[in-house]
Amino acid sequence: MDILEMPVSGIKGVGPKKQVYLHSAGIKTLEDLLYYFPRSYEDRSRLYPLVQIPHKQRVGVRARVIGGPVEKRINRRLTVIKVAIEDDSGRGWAVWFNNPYPARQLKTGSEYLFFGKGDRRFEIQLLNPDVQKADQRVGIVPVYPSRGRLTPGEFERFIRTALELASGKIKDVFPEEIRVHYDLGEINYCLKNIHYPEDYNSLRQARRRLVFQELFLLQMGLLQIKKSVEDVEKGIFFAEKEVEEIFLKKLPFDLTAAQKRVYGEIKKDMESSRIMNRLVQGDVGSGKTVIAVMALLKAVANGYQGALMVPTEILAEQHYSTLTDLLKGFDVKARLLTGSCSKKERERIYSDIREGHADIIVGTHSLVQGPLEFARLGLVVTDEQHRFGVRQRALLFGKGKNPDVLVMTATPIPRTLALILYGDLDISIIDEMPPGRKTVETYAVDKKIRDRVYKFVGRQLSEGRQAYIVCPLIEESDVIEAVPAAVLYEELKRKYLKGYRIELMHGRMTGLQKEEIMREFRDGKINALVSTTVVEVGVNVANANIMVIENAERFGLAQLHQLRGRVGRGKYQSYCILVNHCSSRVAGERIKTLCTISDGFKIAEKDLTLRGPGDFFGTRQHGLPDLKIARLPADMDILKDAQQLALKIIKQPDARTDAKWRQAFEKIEKLCNENNLPQGTI
Ligand code: ADP
Ligand code: MG
Repeated sequence: MDILEMPVSGIKGVGPKKQVYLHSAGIKTLEDLLYYFPRSYEDRSRLYPLVQIPHKQRVGVRARVIGGPVEKRINRRLTVIKVAIEDDSGRGWAVWFNNPYPARQLKTGSEYLFFGKGDRRFEIQLLNPDVQKADQRVGIVPVYPSRGRLTPGEFERFIRTALELASGKIKDVFPEEIRVHYDLGEINYCLKNIHYPEDYNSLRQARRRLVFQELFLLQMGLLQIKKSVEDVEKGIFFAEKEVEEIFLKKLPFDLTAAQKRVYGEIKKDMESSRIMNRLVQGDVGSGKTVIAVMALLKAVANGYQGALMVPTEILAEQHYSTLTDLLKGFDVKARLLTGSCSKKERERIYSDIREGHADIIVGTHSLVQGPLEFARLGLVVTDEQHRFGVRQRALLFGKGKNPDVLVMTATPIPRTLALILYGDLDISIIDEMPPGRKTVETYAVDKKIRDRVYKFVGRQLSEGRQAYIVCPLIEESDVIEAVPAAVLYEELKRKYLKGYRIELMHGRMTGLQKEEIMREFRDGKINALVSTTVVEVGVNVANANIMVIENAERFGLAQLHQLRGRVGRGKYQSYCILVNHCSSRVAGERIKTLCTISDGFKIAEKDLTLRGPGDFFGTRQHGLPDLKIARLPADMDILKDAQQLALKIIKQPDARTDAKWRQAFEKIEKLCNENNLPQGTI
């Protein structure tokens, strides 16, 4: 048996109880333990003379025990245990609270290494020190995160034993020439050094290799899913039809070069017999809708039905009306299915779709929740897909027989990241705006001139325009200092925007309440909308020309850009005003980048470099496993290398049967199984 598959129960110290705890933490085998990585490290190589230990810092000393433990009961809940120690510099105490055990192991007259927190308030003390024999190697030691009832110390013991058991016996997933090429350490060495690094350089090497491995395996898993769909399943062949030409001729504008290119990619997919799985990324306003409509028209012209799924009712209404406008004069019957359809209407729509009397259906999640059946579903389009779970898309896909899939998103993600987050999709990018689009004038202002800002908003309202005002939170908070939407709402009503209809919208409202407000705003019945970031993605209100964002320093750049995309949709000059409440220069500079950059992709990249590691939107959200060691975007460079290798391997037809990649493929399979990575499509 592979040593890595040894159950944790085989490890000394893991009894039935600990085994249960480990299992519930997802740790079942020796391998799982070895891949439970330290949260941080403590450098024990540097020792202090006892009398010089700094106050309140964790430090190490080498000292002799000069007396037995003294236990002192302070009260019912606190017992203090003290042991007198000395080194050449002088005397002090090792002190434990409510824990007599470490002191009892010590022999008077022997020398030990103590690692604890320095305290010099009254005497020289080391608080709650870990103790090692003086002849043991000291270096950089791991500090593990606790998990459930398992303490960092327990993990340390188990993992140390696991490392001893596995030492030298772990098979490498990477063949030697690959390790040389990508400068990756050997696996036994790296696993040992990620837990007990010889020095910082070894730690860096170990980490690099393990990050590479993690990203490589995940990328391979995703590419493989994509490939297996392509290899095994036959998709629908949609022929080229005349209506595509006619549609373009009737369109009141010319497609941009980017739109043409992306539609070309979609057309090629649809006209092949493989299943299309394509993600279209395009900044807000880049014109994704018309592309989706063209694909739907092509499906219908071929005798198939199409479905367009969007996250909110108001978006569904908007898309439905755009779609029916664009398809006027074509023989296409579209239906709108929303939660507000009456029971009778709904039954009618269901039967139209089931019997094939209708060609296109536009709707929200209701498309997958109800008993909707299609006569011949050929194309599935989802818009603003990051709002949908993988599962919902899979459900819609399942309503047809291998329909083509088109996913549209306005969230720009740099290509490298898109390849891992959407590694199972082909990617098309609309990287150009339709001509004549006015840029949104963007200003970063200090909170001191808020007064001017809202007077300006007032003037715009008096000219008939509408405004969005966004705040980071809804109510006063003890922890975060920011303008709450509710307070601002009252202030505006009383002062700056008196006499106008202002509404407050926030995340605690039900979906229906929010939709109702958005509808009234769209219809011009509300002049200004004060809200948290719930302002619906993708809603088109051409008359709204101002976006004010309070505490802009609290938002990511990409998010600010997304919010800015709510305005600049009509013929009026639009404004985005970012109110900065923070005095830090860095925050100010960060916000200012928005004033000069309007390209969503550039902003996304900037955002990723400016944000710290770990700040990245989770992989979980995208239906992928949590990353155990890699940090995106910080590890982007390693990701690039890992991707390059994965793409190379996936293209080699015999890699799967090649003995040197066997370990890797076994690991990939395990990863997919354990994480329920969607098999089949999307
Ligand atoms: P998004 O990519 O954000 O979904 P839309 O599809 O809603 O963008 O398009 C935004 C606006 O741009 C719509 O009013 C649409 O009619 C218009 N539009 C799309 N493509 C072009 C083009 N090539 N030329 C001019 N206007 C266009
Ligand atoms: Mg859109």
